[in-house]
Amino acid sequence: MSNPVLNVNAVSKDFGGIRALDEVDLVVNDKEIVALIGPNGAGKTTFFNCITGIYTPTSGDVIIDPEAKGKTRRINGKKPNIVTELGMARTFQNIRLFPSMTALENVMIGTHCRTKSSIWGAISRNGATRREEQAVIRKAYDLLELVGLKEFVNELAMNMPYGKQRRLEIARALATDPFLLLLDEPAAGMNPQETRDLEELIVSIREKYGISIMLIEHDMKMVMSMSDRIYVLDYGRMIADGTPEEIAANPEVIKAYLGEE
Ligand code: ATP
Repeated sequence: MSNPVLNVNAVSKDFGGIRALDEVDLVVNDKEIVALIGPNGAGKTTFFNCITGIYTPTSGDVIIDPEAKGKTRRINGKKPNIVTELGMARTFQNIRLFPSMTALENVMIGTHCRTKSSIWGAISRNGATRREEQAVIRKAYDLLELVGLKEFVNELAMNMPYGKQRRLEIARALATDPFLLLLDEPAAGMNPQETRDLEELIVSIREKYGISIMLIEHDMKMVMSMSDRIYVLDYGRMIADGTPEEIAANPEVIKAYLGEE
């Protein structure tokens, strides 16, 4: 039985005279891996920006129900930090780490983002107990281990190889304890082996944390093998959604996108 954690209803986004998103509908269910694909300029990143508070949709609704208790929350226009606190975490197409902080510190910052009155606040006021401080550090260590970055714990983010920085972004997003993790082109710039490893990591995150994952990705091999469902955007319109098999056989999708491959 499907259990939606995110419902996007008829979301449109205009930039001046340009309609980047045109009445887009999308649902992500509990523990699903959902991919959003489409040609360059289709509106994929604009969609992520509209659901994470970077842009306010021109019209339509973005509704979350993290506890699945029927108490839905409309999050249109909420600021990105509030969206994160509510349990939606994301990574960016262009990596946005704190370059002169260590990998561990970058992940610890993620912990702070979820809860305003967090332990991090207490740490910065010198008010946290040693035990509380250790708990935050432990969590960050565990996440770095999960994403395969144990040996980079004390490395400055800017000195880490590109593929490792992408993994660090995922660890930082997970530190906010999301119910939905949004990944914007996580495999961009990775070689085939790194891409396969990343795919394994994403699937293992779903298994370990029992969360939903939505990704924008151009690597069709990866998308087809790991997604439960796929949505296809073209010129701001959602032209198809379905299982990987359904999408691969959809003539409109082949014409708009897959045919280009
Ligand atoms: P890509 O795969 O290349 O990353 P995309 O599918 O993510 O592309 P978007 O970056 O969302 O596409 O862009 C969708 C459309 O909206 C494009 O025509 C783009 O020029 C336009 N657009 C996006 N952001 C803005 C903005 N801030 N101001 C004006 N136009 C914008």
